[in-house]
Amino acid sequence: SSTMIETVNPATGRPTAAYEAWDAARIEAAVERAHAASLAWARVPVTERAARAARLADSLREHAGQLADLAVAEMGKPVAEAAGEVEKSALTADYYARQGPGHLADQRVAIDGAEAWVAYEPAGLLLAVMPWNFPVWQVMRFAVPALVAGNGILLKHASNVTGSALALQDLFAEAGFPDNLVSALVVADADVPGVTARLIEDERIAAVTLTGSNRAGAAVGAAAGRAAKKSVLELGGSDAFVVLDDADVKRAAAAAVRARFTNSGQSCVCAKRFIVAEPVADAFTAAFVAGVESLRLGDPRDPDTQVGPLARDDLRAAIQRQVEESVAAGARLLTGGKPLPGEGYFHQPTVLAGTGPGMAAFDEETFGPLAAIAVARDDEDCIRLANATAYGLGLSVWTADASRGVDVARRITSGAAFVNAIVASDPRLPFGGTKRSGYGRELAAEGIREFTNTRTYWVA
Ligand code: NDP
Repeated sequence: SSTMIETVNPATGRPTAAYEAWDAARIEAAVERAHAASLAWARVPVTERAARAARLADSLREHAGQLADLAVAEMGKPVAEAAGEVEKSALTADYYARQGPGHLADQRVAIDGAEAWVAYEPAGLLLAVMPWNFPVWQVMRFAVPALVAGNGILLKHASNVTGSALALQDLFAEAGFPDNLVSALVVADADVPGVTARLIEDERIAAVTLTGSNRAGAAVGAAAGRAAKKSVLELGGSDAFVVLDDADVKRAAAAAVRARFTNSGQSCVCAKRFIVAEPVADAFTAAFVAGVESLRLGDPRDPDTQVGPLARDDLRAAIQRQVEESVAAGARLLTGGKPLPGEGYFHQPTVLAGTGPGMAAFDEETFGPLAAIAVARDDEDCIRLANATAYGLGLSVWTADASRGVDVARRITSGAAFVNAIVASDPRLPFGGTKRSGYGRELAAEGIREFTNTRTYWVA
């Protein structure tokens, strides 16, 4: 009797497809083939590896419609955003096709009496545990640099986006990456101590990366530690969106709506806590709530839809619990607050005011359409509240005085600080977290070097 992995359309709650989960023998065969493919790939010159990334960009653009429709059907994101996600992935493939060889070039070091250099050589076969929230982008931002660096990949994608995982595997093959170099594993018992832990211990696997919850990241990081293997963890966030007393309130509020409700609120770098200086708090709150109330919630297949369903019913229940606990603890509900009746996993865009430490909406990651506003006395109080979190991924500060914004940002812990702009990843800049948001970096030169052997050569 085999286990089936079922995918469900979040807009309807109805099953979309079922996949037979692999047994131990099939997993073993895939690891063996992927290992052989990664050894051969490591000997392919970097310029050729980069040329495949350029072809991958073409394949992504060619299949953009199909990939976007699959994301909509499997995790319910609005189709306009799904199309944007595919294009961003293609731009990242373009970026590494052009810049990857330079990032990986030998670095000469001047030493008397010897030729010395630092080389960035392939790490080997990598295990990638990926989440459903950006089914294409999360895979591509890791996989493209990892492949250009000469590695192979075993992809353990989230179970609810198994169709996307298999489509991406085909795309890599179409772009000319060798067979088995990127293998999507269709496994049911992924959780440590299941398949994932056994793979991390496997001698053929060099390192592991995970993007997802703190719980999954800690489990995978611990298994990597036991095996003394490198790991990169990109976990959740509870990003602060700080509005100082001199900010352009209308502009900040419009940006805040986008920063919170992108991907129906299900992004690690969505702004989650809105920390607003007291003199502008009322004006910001009014403009923000008006913006939230004008969001178009509905069928994610409709190109005009701005907020779709949550990806799973349990994720919606988590938002509901966070709303209820926060209100019970004294937060004020300004708009929304309820799941939508009827089919699918929709939840009203929701704003809570009067939040702060000790409330679920402030202390926990809110992975859905729920915004928490907190009022601060002055810059110092903004800094205190922004830092009052276990997370440290992104940060956005709004002010008429950019240098004041940078000064405030310097005193708040995060992996990225944006002043008068929304936090977003960009292939030209490194991306990653501090505190419980994880460690290691993706994208840019830092990201492509994460999964290399930084090797010293000394030739006398
Ligand atoms: P998970 O972290 O559980 O899932 C992410 C990936 O990790 C999936 O491939 C999942 O596999 C796998 N996984 C889960 N647990 C383990 C484990 N113990 N060992 C190995 N692999 C594991 O996220 P959820 O989907 O449950 O989302 C829960 C919360 O996580 C969200 O509400 C949000 O707070 C956060 N999150 C953050 C993301 C980010 O971008 N940083 C992305 C997604 C979620 P499988 O699907 O088979 O369970």
